[in-house]
Amino acid sequence: MKLAALLLVTALSLLTMPTTQAQTPINVVTTVGMITDMVEQIGGDRVQVTGLMGAGVDPHLYRPTARNIQTLQNADIIFRNGGNLEGRMGNIFDRLNRRIPVYTLMDAMPSERLFAHPIYEGFFDPHVWFDVSLWSEGIDAVVDGLSALDPAGAAVYAANAAAYRGKLSALDAYIAEAAATIPEEQRVLITAHDAFSYFGARYGIEVRGLQGVSTEAEAGVQDVQNLVAFVVDRRVPAVFIETSVPQRTLQAVVEAARARGWEVRLGGELFSDAPGDSGTLEGTYIGMVLHNLIAIVPALGGELPPLPGALAAYQLMFEEA
Ligand SMILES: [Zn+2]
Repeated sequence: MKLAALLLVTALSLLTMPTTQAQTPINVVTTVGMITDMVEQIGGDRVQVTGLMGAGVDPHLYRPTARNIQTLQNADIIFRNGGNLEGRMGNIFDRLNRRIPVYTLMDAMPSERLFAHPIYEGFFDPHVWFDVSLWSEGIDAVVDGLSALDPAGAAVYAANAAAYRGKLSALDAYIAEAAATIPEEQRVLITAHDAFSYFGARYGIEVRGLQGVSTEAEAGVQDVQNLVAFVVDRRVPAVFIETSVPQRTLQAVVEAARARGWEVRLGGELFSDAPGDSGTLEGTYIGMVLHNLIAIVPALGGELPPLPGALAAYQLMFEEA
């Protein structure tokens, strides 16, 4: 009994201690893998990051488990994408934000560069990571959030952020260079859902998705027919499946085009809304973008240029992929 009382007093005194300095590593919880990766790049040893959505998980359809909610409640800080990407997580973030800082990466991006969401009024298209220069703006949210919680680490976060920005800037230039090798009339990217609008706009590629911006609604017969007509008319050489979206409807496009005498290839898998397994090229944000380029550029008749020096760390896996 005495021990219990002593523990209680100790616990109370800990609670009332001044909290000016955060305990490191900071317990960070993130939603999608692209953000998990960014926070790890910027936070380094000062953070311990738990990403809720792993490889192959579709964020549009993702509902948190009781365990996920527990993980969120225990976080020191939370980073999410916004734009209704984590739409089925509902107002969890608003409730958590009453006591835990929640940072939304899209809030750090210039709104004039965001596209309106075609379905959810008042929201932006959430697939901002495929314009690498735009995604890079989200770094500010991570630096601000971590530095506010852990001022002693601010210089480290700023330096890591500058290094990461440099890599993303090299990646951005590389994609533009690679896209420019595709013959102009073949710069058309057809995928299962509309995840690539920012990619297309930034790098000069026309984009068509079968399912719209969210994966919540299934493609209808009319959607398939319209896309087939487009593929046949434009003599599109390849269409692409996505790892986080079932491929059956896109397969139907390939078969219908074939019936009309146009042989369109089912191109390699694209990582759209989630990176791949860790330890593979596509297991990081930069690697997943490179993986997509390897799938897209040659299939549409282009040729991949050599990787820039800033991305040398990816060279080996890039060659093997
Ligand atoms: Zn999506």
